Amino acid sequence: MNWVQWLREQHVAPSVMADDAGTCSLCRTPTPVGPQGTPYERCYNCRRTFSSVLDGFVPMCYSLHGGLEGILWRAKNEAPDVWLRRPLGSLLWTFMRRHLTCIEGFYGGPFDLQVAMPSHSSARGGQSHLDALIGHVRDFASEWRSDALVKNDASKAGARREKIVPGLFTASPIVSGRRVLLFDDTFTTGGSMASAAYALKQAGAVSVVGLSFGRQLKADWRDSAEFVASLAGRELEIDKCVVHGGRQADPFDLLFRQPG
Ligand SMILES: [Zn+2]
Ligand SMILES: [Zn+2]
Repeated sequence: MNWVQWLREQHVAPSVMADDAGTCSLCRTPTPVGPQGTPYERCYNCRRTFSSVLDGFVPMCYSLHGGLEGILWRAKNEAPDVWLRRPLGSLLWTFMRRHLTCIEGFYGGPFDLQVAMPSHSSARGGQSHLDALIGHVRDFASEWRSDALVKNDASKAGARREKIVPGLFTASPIVSGRRVLLFDDTFTTGGSMASAAYALKQAGAVSVVGLSFGRQLKADWRDSAEFVASLAGRELEIDKCVVHGGRQADPFDLLFRQPG
C-alpha cells in the first residue's frame, strides 16, 4: 500500500508551496495588506513573538475543515480510526526522506536532535499520539526523541493559545547546544509549538525549526477567505516543500543556498 498516494487521492492535503504569495514567511498564514499596498511579509504573531523562539517552520500541507483537520483529529481521538496513523506516519517518513537535506540546507545546517511534541499527560491515557504514529514506520521511531520535552500537568489539555506560555513545557538538558527539529501534527494558532520552542531555547537549544503535517487555516479567519479558496484543487505534491519548491535536493545547489 502506498499510503502517501492514498492520502493524495483523498484530496485533503494541499501542499504548502515555497512560492505561495501573500502568506507569512514563517507560519504561512495569509497576511493582511500593509500600507504599501502589498501583504505583510510576516503575520502579527510571528513579528511580535514567535520569531523570537522559532527559527523556521516547515508545514507539509494546509489543513482545512473537512480535510486534513478531520484526519488528524480522527487519528488522535477515535479508536476505530487509529489506522489513519499509517498514512500519516508514511507521510512523515517520506517527507523527511525527500526534504530533510533541503530543510537543513535552508536553515543553516544539520539538526542534532529530532523531537516529537509530547501529548498532555492526562489526554488519551497518557499515551503519546505522535510516538504511536511515528512507531508505525519500522525503525523510524529511533530517529525521534520523545523524552526531550515534557508537557506540564498544570496546563489545560487542548487549550487554544495564541502566545508563548512559559512553563507550559520543560525541556531536558540534553537539548543544550543542539539544533532541534521540533515535530507536531498541526499548527493552528502556533502557541503550543512556540511555547515548546521557548522551553527548548531556555534549556540552551541553539536553534529550533518546527515541522508539522498541517498548517491549519479557516476561511473565516481574518484575511484568509481568498487564499483558502485558492487551495481548492491543489493536491499533495510530495516532491515539493516549503523551502525548496519542486526541485530535488542537490548537494551542490545547497552549498550556495542562503537562509532566506
Ligand atoms: Zn506568521
Ligand atoms: Zn524540499
